[in-house]
Amino acid sequence: MNALLAADPEIHALIRQEEERQAAKIRLIASENYASSAVLQATGSVLTNKYSEGYPGKRYYEGQQIIDQVEALAVARVKELFAAEHVNVQPYSGSPANIAAYLAFLNPGDTILGMALPHGGHLTHGAPVSISGRYFRAESYSVDPQTKRLDYDAVRQRALECRPRLLVAGHSAHPRILDFQKFRAIADEVGAIFMVDMAHFSGLVAGGAHPSPIPYADVVTSTTHKSLRGPRGAMILCRDQYAAAIDKAVFPGLQGGPHDHTTAAIAVTMKEAATPAFKEYAHQVVKNAQALAATLLAKGFSLVTGGTDNHLLLADLSATGLSSKKVAKALDRAGIVLNYNTIPFDTRKPTDPSGIRMGACAVTSRGFKEQEMAFVGEKIAAVIERLDDEAFLARTAAEVREFCRRFPAPGLEHLA
Ligand SMILES: *Cc1c(COP(=O)(O)O)cnc(C)c1O
Repeated sequence: MNALLAADPEIHALIRQEEERQAAKIRLIASENYASSAVLQATGSVLTNKYSEGYPGKRYYEGQQIIDQVEALAVARVKELFAAEHVNVQPYSGSPANIAAYLAFLNPGDTILGMALPHGGHLTHGAPVSISGRYFRAESYSVDPQTKRLDYDAVRQRALECRPRLLVAGHSAHPRILDFQKFRAIADEVGAIFMVDMAHFSGLVAGGAHPSPIPYADVVTSTTHKSLRGPRGAMILCRDQYAAAIDKAVFPGLQGGPHDHTTAAIAVTMKEAATPAFKEYAHQVVKNAQALAATLLAKGFSLVTGGTDNHLLLADLSATGLSSKKVAKALDRAGIVLNYNTIPFDTRKPTDPSGIRMGACAVTSRGFKEQEMAFVGEKIAAVIERLDDEAFLARTAAEVREFCRRFPAPGLEHLA
């Protein structure tokens, strides 16, 4: 980064510091990962200079000889990897992808039914503070009060009551696999479009470690930077019959020029995700999340639903009386980065709720296996015992830093 160093030493130094932070800490934020150097190079390329409103072969500006090939490759690779009929790789990120999908199928005031935000759903699934809750009549379904899993009879009841035009499945904080077939049947019964937002688990789907929603959903949205390990971006996969509506909704409906550098990086991501190594990665992510769950359970932790079958887990700290915000901040000082999170039926406020969320995507990318996850679980338990012991937190951070040295992270090989 010599040019950056010369032009802007301040930003250069901050990026270097962030590289060090990402290398030296155990990153458990469930939506984060380490993109490869190849993905980072595509993202940082001159493709950022191009304007290409429209789609390959149908652009509004000239000079698309190369960009058309880049976007066509990205689309073809996504189609192949997910067995999708139609793909749009232009959404700027996960939230705009969801809004574009709504724009394709809904009018303002139409009803959408999604998982409640405090139960693991995403803001864009109809939360009152989101555009999705303000421009549409947003209804929500909850998890079962006992099992904290989805009760599909209850989801069906909600759908029959509110008759949504669009039913959304998908989440940011639910540790269990969804039954897409049951969702499909509910959508059919009430005549709703069935949308799946696989932002969190699309990498597991790509690697065969989670069932695919593609055969069941009318439309599937996903980010590309979470379990898929690509650039900041998103995509929409849909049936051919909705191709024109989706493309029109993304551009010109919601966006202007696509981010061609991101499109190129998405193409690279899809090539990586189609390899046997990625398949192995996706399965290891699930094994690692389960290994962390097993360690925490053995240490007496309570986990929402009792465990996990995807990449994430949600610990319920309510019985300890501890502030999960204080726990998350102490863990960060000890070199373990995660987020405090609302749990279903939380009695505390969302800014200081009862849960902490952990994901295995990033640490698995740097080569952690079950044994390393046990180390992580033990450190988390130890820190929670000594939240106010700053010397212990500092000692743990140093130990974590040493531990991490043995596992060079993708994109940060130059630090190893
Ligand atoms: C992360 C996430 C999004 C939003 O993605 P951004 O890129 O942050 O806008 C949408 N839906 C779900 C389920 C997510 O987890």
